[in-house]
Amino acid sequence: MAKSIQAIRGMNDLLPDQSPAWQQVESTIRRVAASYGYSEIRMPVLENTALFKRSIGEVTDIVEKEMYTFDDRNGESLTLRPEGTASCVRAGNQHGLLYNQIQRLWYIGPMFRYERPQKGRYRQFHQFGIETFGLSGADADAEVILLSARLWKAFGIADQVELQLNSLGSNEARARYRDALRDYLAQYQEQLDEDSKRRLDSNPLRILDSKDETTQSLLADAPRLSDYWDDESREHFAQLRARLDEAGINYTLNERLVRGLDYYNRTVFEWVTTALGAQGTVCAGGRYDGLVEQLGGKATPAVGFAMGMERLVLLLQEQDKLNPRRAVDAYLMPLGEQAELKAPAIAEQLRDALPELRLVTHCGGGAMKKQIKKADKSGAEVALIVGENELAEQQVTVKPLRSDAEQTTLSHAELVEFLRPLTQA
Ligand code: ATP
Ligand code: MG
Repeated sequence: MAKSIQAIRGMNDLLPDQSPAWQQVESTIRRVAASYGYSEIRMPVLENTALFKRSIGEVTDIVEKEMYTFDDRNGESLTLRPEGTASCVRAGNQHGLLYNQIQRLWYIGPMFRYERPQKGRYRQFHQFGIETFGLSGADADAEVILLSARLWKAFGIADQVELQLNSLGSNEARARYRDALRDYLAQYQEQLDEDSKRRLDSNPLRILDSKDETTQSLLADAPRLSDYWDDESREHFAQLRARLDEAGINYTLNERLVRGLDYYNRTVFEWVTTALGAQGTVCAGGRYDGLVEQLGGKATPAVGFAMGMERLVLLLQEQDKLNPRRAVDAYLMPLGEQAELKAPAIAEQLRDALPELRLVTHCGGGAMKKQIKKADKSGAEVALIVGENELAEQQVTVKPLRSDAEQTTLSHAELVEFLRPLTQA
């Protein structure tokens, strides 16, 4: 036998026993996004490398070490998208969606990062993202956060996630704070962990979320970001908090929350859970008022988030919150040559009458016992048996597979009414 080829490390197949869970999660997401008037946008998974360097920032984990970048046959540098916001802004600019307009957009799709694979962290993973363009007020930030909160409610995990909130202030305020933090930490350069030493000049804000204990203790007396906020950002943040308070959304203020990407200003937030171990952030976002202009468009305020779908599905499975619709409702078993001849036509009539019915027609003939085994394995709720007697009487025998209920023989019209409730479960 030839040596079999395996999938790339960190890139997972989603097998048939998993896809119902994903479909359930995706359909809830679509419904909730639509309930806020958001429209779907689909972008390519490959973009020019320059797009991510310019938006995410040269000195970020993603651009420094996580991107899948390669030259195509023309020698052009391309990158598999590590996130969706940059592509969404690129598409919006390219098609004139953002110019003097308000847009409420969402996307779902695969993202690619070269990271060490572990639970909740993969090299191909999926994000659901929201991006709102053209609205500068805190009401838009509140809307985006409320949309994410509604998803937790819809999934029944509102008590499993905590909202952490911070403001970075204006770009100028953030720059002044960055300098102050760097000057402060420079005094203790020798005591910092290796990553933080490296970031001291390039991206000192990232030192705030260092996991190193010594670094964390040094940060206790560091300058505070909130002391550098400009008045408008302070007011903006107060307005956001007032709206969240009114809507009954609890949050924790976390002054060390700065996010790993360069493009954020003002609001930043994360939804975190303790139920998933180290990979506890299920959703992260914030405001990025400078990005549209930075990527060649007219200055346009924007706010959004990205949710890690694998982490969400893991959390829902661990909390036992998924009850996906069964893949097969009924399994049609023709017994004998005449029944085999008629079975496809009978199945089509049932599908005409019940478009939502999930009906498998047994193929390949065989005795009753063999067919019942297959019916059971299919996961169907009932087997529909058509033998010579049933054919003669224009009836079907219904055999429940998941309960002790008696089997019954029904006319075709009665069968449709019998099956209807199964299609609604
Ligand atoms: P982390 O700190 O976990 O590396 P991040 O700050 O790099 O996250 P973002 O770029 O903000 O993550 O992406 C938003 C969300 O996408 C994360 O909160 C997480 O749920 C998910 N995510 C990010 N990277 C991965 C990955 N490699 N595998 C699975 N999910 C991921
Ligand atoms: Mg990361």
